[in-house]
Amino acid sequence: MGKVVAVANQKGGVGKTTTAINLSSAIALEGKSVLLIDMDPQGNSTSGLGVDQGSLKSTTYSCLVKTSTIQESSIETSVAGLSLLPANADLAGAEVELVNIEGREGHLRTIIDEIREKYDFIFLDCPPALGILTINALTAADSVLIPVQCEYYAMEGLTRLIGSIDLVRQSFNSSLELEGIVLTMYDSRNTLSRQVAEQIRSHLVDKVYQAVIPRNVSLAEAPSYGRPGILYNVASAGSQAYVTLAKEFIAHGEKSPR
Ligand code: ATP
Ligand code: MG
Repeated sequence: MGKVVAVANQKGGVGKTTTAINLSSAIALEGKSVLLIDMDPQGNSTSGLGVDQGSLKSTTYSCLVKTSTIQESSIETSVAGLSLLPANADLAGAEVELVNIEGREGHLRTIIDEIREKYDFIFLDCPPALGILTINALTAADSVLIPVQCEYYAMEGLTRLIGSIDLVRQSFNSSLELEGIVLTMYDSRNTLSRQVAEQIRSHLVDKVYQAVIPRNVSLAEAPSYGRPGILYNVASAGSQAYVTLAKEFIAHGEKSPR
Protein backbone atom coordinates (compact mmCIF):
# COMPACT_ATOMS: atom_id res chain seq x y z
CA MET A 1 0.00 0.00 0.00
CA GLY A 2 1.43 3.32 -1.06
CA LYS A 3 2.13 5.96 1.50
CA VAL A 4 0.49 9.29 0.62
CA VAL A 5 2.57 12.39 1.39
CA ALA A 6 1.25 15.94 0.97
CA VAL A 7 3.93 18.54 0.21
CA ALA A 8 2.32 21.62 1.69
CA ASN A 9 2.91 25.15 2.89
CA GLN A 10 0.36 27.93 2.53
CA LYS A 11 3.22 30.33 1.84
CA GLY A 12 3.99 30.75 -1.85
CA GLY A 13 7.33 30.14 -3.52
CA VAL A 14 9.00 28.22 -0.70
CA GLY A 15 10.04 25.21 -2.80
CA LYS A 16 6.99 22.91 -2.61
CA THR A 17 7.01 22.07 -6.31
CA THR A 18 10.80 21.85 -6.58
CA THR A 19 10.75 19.47 -3.60
CA ALA A 20 7.78 17.46 -4.93
CA ILE A 21 9.45 16.97 -8.35
CA ASN A 22 12.98 16.28 -7.18
CA LEU A 23 12.17 14.19 -4.12
CA SER A 24 9.70 12.00 -6.02
CA SER A 25 12.23 11.65 -8.88
CA ALA A 26 15.07 10.76 -6.52
CA ILE A 27 12.90 8.20 -4.72
CA ALA A 28 11.84 6.68 -8.06
CA LEU A 29 15.51 6.43 -9.03
CA GLU A 30 16.07 4.50 -5.77
CA GLY A 31 13.84 1.86 -7.34
CA LYS A 32 10.49 2.78 -5.82
CA SER A 33 7.24 3.14 -7.72
CA VAL A 34 6.07 6.74 -7.30
CA LEU A 35 3.06 8.83 -8.38
CA LEU A 36 3.17 12.62 -8.21
CA ILE A 37 -0.27 14.26 -8.18
CA ASP A 38 -0.28 17.91 -9.20
CA MET A 39 -2.85 19.56 -6.87
CA ASP A 40 -2.08 23.12 -8.00
CA PRO A 41 -4.03 24.94 -10.76
CA GLN A 42 -0.70 26.62 -11.63
CA GLY A 43 0.40 23.18 -12.88
CA ASN A 44 4.05 23.78 -12.04
CA SER A 45 4.81 20.11 -11.36
CA THR A 46 3.19 19.30 -14.70
CA SER A 47 5.24 21.82 -16.71
CA GLY A 48 8.35 21.10 -14.67
CA LEU A 49 8.16 17.47 -15.77
CA GLY A 50 7.91 18.53 -19.40
CA VAL A 51 4.17 18.02 -19.88
CA ASP A 52 2.31 20.67 -21.91
CA GLN A 53 -0.62 21.90 -19.80
CA GLY A 54 -2.59 23.02 -22.84
CA SER A 55 -2.86 19.58 -24.46
CA LEU A 56 -4.29 17.75 -21.45
CA LYS A 57 -7.66 15.98 -21.58
CA SER A 58 -7.53 14.11 -18.30
CA THR A 59 -6.18 15.89 -15.27
CA THR A 60 -6.42 16.03 -11.48
CA TYR A 61 -9.57 18.09 -12.06
CA SER A 62 -11.31 15.50 -14.23
CA CYS A 63 -10.43 12.84 -11.64
CA LEU A 64 -11.82 14.94 -8.77
CA VAL A 65 -15.11 15.48 -10.60
CA LYS A 66 -15.05 11.82 -11.67
CA THR A 67 -15.09 12.22 -15.44
CA SER A 68 -11.85 10.17 -15.52
CA THR A 69 -9.88 7.92 -13.18
CA ILE A 70 -6.34 8.36 -11.83
CA GLN A 71 -5.48 5.02 -13.44
CA GLU A 72 -6.30 6.26 -16.96
CA SER A 73 -5.17 9.87 -16.46
CA SER A 74 -1.69 9.42 -15.00
CA ILE A 75 1.19 9.51 -17.44
CA GLU A 76 4.75 8.25 -17.41
CA THR A 77 7.52 10.80 -17.07
CA SER A 78 11.13 10.92 -18.25
CA VAL A 79 12.07 9.50 -14.84
CA ALA A 80 11.85 5.71 -14.69
CA GLY A 81 9.35 4.70 -12.01
CA LEU A 82 7.74 8.14 -11.70
CA SER A 83 4.19 8.73 -12.96
CA LEU A 84 2.38 12.06 -12.96
CA LEU A 85 -1.27 12.99 -12.60
CA PRO A 86 -1.07 16.37 -14.38
CA ALA A 87 -3.01 19.56 -13.68
CA ASN A 88 -3.77 22.81 -15.40
CA ALA A 89 -5.93 25.88 -14.74
CA ASP A 90 -9.11 23.73 -14.92
CA LEU A 91 -8.32 22.66 -11.38
CA ALA A 92 -9.24 26.12 -10.12
CA GLY A 93 -12.84 25.11 -10.95
CA ALA A 94 -12.73 22.43 -8.29
CA GLU A 95 -12.42 25.12 -5.62
CA VAL A 96 -15.84 26.39 -6.68
CA GLU A 97 -17.55 23.16 -7.69
CA LEU A 98 -16.70 21.22 -4.54
CA VAL A 99 -17.75 24.00 -2.21
CA ASN A 100 -21.32 22.94 -1.53
CA ILE A 101 -20.90 19.22 -1.89
CA GLU A 102 -21.30 17.05 1.18
CA GLY A 103 -18.03 15.36 2.11
CA ARG A 104 -16.14 17.68 -0.23
CA GLU A 105 -12.90 17.27 1.70
CA GLY A 106 -12.80 13.52 1.08
CA HIS A 107 -12.93 13.34 -2.74
CA LEU A 108 -9.21 12.93 -3.32
CA ARG A 109 -8.93 10.29 -0.65
CA THR A 110 -11.68 8.22 -2.27
CA ILE A 111 -10.06 8.26 -5.72
CA ILE A 112 -6.55 7.67 -4.37
CA ASP A 113 -7.78 4.60 -2.52
CA GLU A 114 -8.59 3.03 -5.92
CA ILE A 115 -4.92 3.11 -7.04
CA ARG A 116 -3.06 3.20 -3.75
CA GLU A 117 -1.65 -0.31 -3.91
CA LYS A 118 0.04 0.33 -7.29
CA TYR A 119 2.63 2.67 -5.79
CA ASP A 120 5.16 2.74 -2.98
CA PHE A 121 4.71 6.50 -2.55
CA ILE A 122 2.17 9.06 -3.74
CA PHE A 123 3.21 12.71 -3.43
CA LEU A 124 0.73 15.60 -3.58
CA ASP A 125 2.08 18.98 -4.73
CA CYS A 126 -0.26 21.45 -2.99
CA PRO A 127 -1.07 25.02 -4.00
CA PRO A 128 -0.02 27.96 -1.77
CA ALA A 129 -3.33 28.27 0.05
CA LEU A 130 -5.36 26.39 2.64
CA GLY A 131 -8.39 26.06 0.36
CA ILE A 132 -10.41 23.01 -0.56
CA LEU A 133 -7.60 21.53 -2.72
CA THR A 134 -5.09 21.54 0.13
CA ILE A 135 -7.75 20.30 2.55
CA ASN A 136 -8.44 17.40 0.15
CA ALA A 137 -4.71 16.68 0.03
CA LEU A 138 -4.35 16.74 3.83
CA THR A 139 -7.42 14.54 4.21
CA ALA A 140 -6.04 11.98 1.74
CA ALA A 141 -2.51 12.02 3.15
CA ASP A 142 -0.81 9.76 5.66
CA SER A 143 1.66 12.52 6.35
CA VAL A 144 2.64 16.05 5.42
CA LEU A 145 6.08 17.19 4.35
CA ILE A 146 6.70 20.91 4.76
CA PRO A 147 9.31 22.79 2.76
CA VAL A 148 10.38 25.94 4.59
CA GLN A 149 12.47 28.72 3.16
CA CYS A 150 14.92 30.07 5.72
CA GLU A 151 13.79 33.69 5.79
CA TYR A 152 12.23 36.17 8.18
CA TYR A 153 8.73 35.10 9.41
CA ALA A 154 9.36 31.45 8.44
CA MET A 155 8.75 30.31 12.03
CA GLU A 156 5.45 32.24 12.27
CA GLY A 157 4.21 30.72 9.01
CA LEU A 158 5.25 27.27 10.15
CA THR A 159 3.45 27.63 13.48
CA ARG A 160 0.26 28.66 11.67
CA LEU A 161 0.54 25.72 9.26
CA ILE A 162 1.03 23.23 12.09
CA GLY A 163 -2.11 24.72 13.69
CA SER A 164 -4.05 24.13 10.46
CA ILE A 165 -2.76 20.56 10.26
CA ASP A 166 -4.09 20.03 13.81
CA LEU A 167 -7.52 21.26 12.68
CA VAL A 168 -7.55 18.85 9.72
CA ARG A 169 -6.52 16.09 12.10
CA GLN A 170 -9.44 16.89 14.43
CA SER A 171 -12.02 17.23 11.68
CA PHE A 172 -11.15 14.94 8.77
CA ASN A 173 -8.04 12.79 9.22
CA SER A 174 -7.10 11.74 12.75
CA SER A 175 -4.08 9.72 11.59
CA LEU A 176 -2.36 12.57 9.69
CA GLU A 177 1.30 12.75 10.73
CA LEU A 178 3.98 15.37 10.35
CA GLU A 179 6.44 13.63 8.03
CA GLY A 180 9.15 16.23 8.30
CA ILE A 181 10.34 19.72 7.56
CA VAL A 182 12.85 20.38 4.82
CA LEU A 183 14.84 23.60 4.79
CA THR A 184 15.01 24.99 1.25
CA MET A 185 16.93 27.67 -0.65
CA TYR A 186 19.43 27.71 2.18
CA ASP A 187 22.36 30.09 1.89
CA SER A 188 25.07 29.26 4.43
CA ARG A 189 26.76 32.66 3.85
CA ASN A 190 23.62 34.48 4.92
CA THR A 191 23.38 35.06 8.68
CA LEU A 192 19.56 35.25 8.65
CA SER A 193 19.35 31.94 6.78
CA ARG A 194 21.53 30.31 9.45
CA GLN A 195 19.60 31.88 12.34
CA VAL A 196 16.21 30.85 10.97
CA ALA A 197 17.44 27.29 10.37
CA GLU A 198 18.68 27.13 13.99
CA GLN A 199 15.40 28.51 15.30
CA ILE A 200 13.35 25.93 13.37
CA ARG A 201 15.63 23.09 14.47
CA SER A 202 15.42 24.17 18.12
CA HIS A 203 11.60 24.21 18.02
CA LEU A 204 10.97 21.08 15.98
CA VAL A 205 14.11 19.10 16.83
CA ASP A 206 13.73 15.62 15.32
CA LYS A 207 11.17 16.69 12.70
CA VAL A 208 13.68 18.63 10.59
CA TYR A 209 15.62 16.66 8.00
CA GLN A 210 19.40 16.68 8.26
CA ALA A 211 19.53 17.16 4.49
CA VAL A 212 19.27 20.88 3.68
CA ILE A 213 18.51 22.11 0.15
CA PRO A 214 20.87 24.92 -0.86
CA ARG A 215 19.95 27.80 -3.13
CA ASN A 216 21.15 26.41 -6.44
CA VAL A 217 20.82 27.72 -9.96
CA SER A 218 20.46 24.29 -11.62
CA LEU A 219 17.31 23.60 -9.57
CA ALA A 220 15.84 26.90 -10.74
CA GLU A 221 16.78 26.34 -14.40
CA ALA A 222 15.64 22.73 -14.71
CA PRO A 223 11.86 23.39 -15.04
CA SER A 224 12.39 25.48 -18.18
CA TYR A 225 13.91 22.35 -19.75
CA GLY A 226 10.98 20.24 -18.53
CA ARG A 227 13.24 18.02 -16.48
CA PRO A 228 13.72 17.46 -12.75
CA GLY A 229 16.91 19.08 -11.44
CA ILE A 230 18.29 15.67 -10.62
CA LEU A 231 18.19 14.68 -14.31
CA TYR A 232 19.10 18.10 -15.70
CA ASN A 233 22.30 18.34 -13.64
CA VAL A 234 22.75 15.46 -11.23
CA ALA A 235 26.17 16.67 -10.07
CA SER A 236 24.87 20.03 -8.82
CA ALA A 237 24.78 20.70 -5.09
CA GLY A 238 20.98 21.09 -5.28
CA SER A 239 20.46 17.72 -6.96
CA GLN A 240 22.79 15.98 -4.56
CA ALA A 241 20.89 17.49 -1.63
CA TYR A 242 17.64 15.99 -2.97
CA VAL A 243 19.32 12.60 -3.43
CA THR A 244 20.44 12.77 0.22
CA LEU A 245 16.95 13.87 1.29
CA ALA A 246 15.42 10.92 -0.62
CA LYS A 247 17.63 8.44 1.23
CA GLU A 248 16.78 10.05 4.57
CA PHE A 249 13.09 10.09 3.66
CA ILE A 250 13.06 6.41 2.70
CA ALA A 251 14.93 5.44 5.87
CA HIS A 252 12.40 7.29 8.09
CA GLY A 253 9.36 7.30 5.87
CA GLU A 254 8.41 3.70 5.24
CA LYS A 255 5.69 2.71 7.62
CA SER A 256 2.75 0.41 7.80
CA PRO A 257 -0.38 1.75 6.13
CA ARG A 258 -3.24 2.99 8.23
P1 ATP B 1 4.04 28.02 -5.22
O1 ATP B 1 3.66 28.38 -3.83
O2 ATP B 1 3.83 29.12 -6.21
O3 ATP B 1 3.48 26.71 -5.67
P2 ATP B 1 6.41 26.59 -4.53
O4 ATP B 1 6.35 26.61 -3.04
O5 ATP B 1 5.96 25.37 -5.21
O6 ATP B 1 5.65 27.85 -5.15
P3 ATP B 1 8.75 26.46 -6.19
O7 ATP B 1 7.95 26.69 -7.41
O8 ATP B 1 9.31 25.12 -5.96
O9 ATP B 1 7.93 26.92 -4.91
O10 ATP B 1 9.95 27.49 -6.09
C1 ATP B 1 9.74 28.89 -6.24
C2 ATP B 1 10.85 29.45 -7.15
O11 ATP B 1 12.11 29.26 -6.55
C3 ATP B 1 10.91 28.73 -8.49
O12 ATP B 1 11.30 29.67 -9.47
C4 ATP B 1 12.01 27.70 -8.29
O13 ATP B 1 12.66 27.37 -9.50
C5 ATP B 1 12.93 28.42 -7.34
N1 ATP B 1 13.63 27.48 -6.44
C6 ATP B 1 13.07 26.53 -5.66
N2 ATP B 1 14.00 25.89 -4.94
C7 ATP B 1 15.19 26.46 -5.27
C8 ATP B 1 16.54 26.24 -4.85
N3 ATP B 1 16.85 25.31 -3.94
N4 ATP B 1 17.51 27.02 -5.40
C9 ATP B 1 17.19 27.98 -6.31
N5 ATP B 1 15.95 28.23 -6.75
C10 ATP B 1 14.95 27.49 -6.23
MG1 MG C 1 4.25 25.04 -6.43
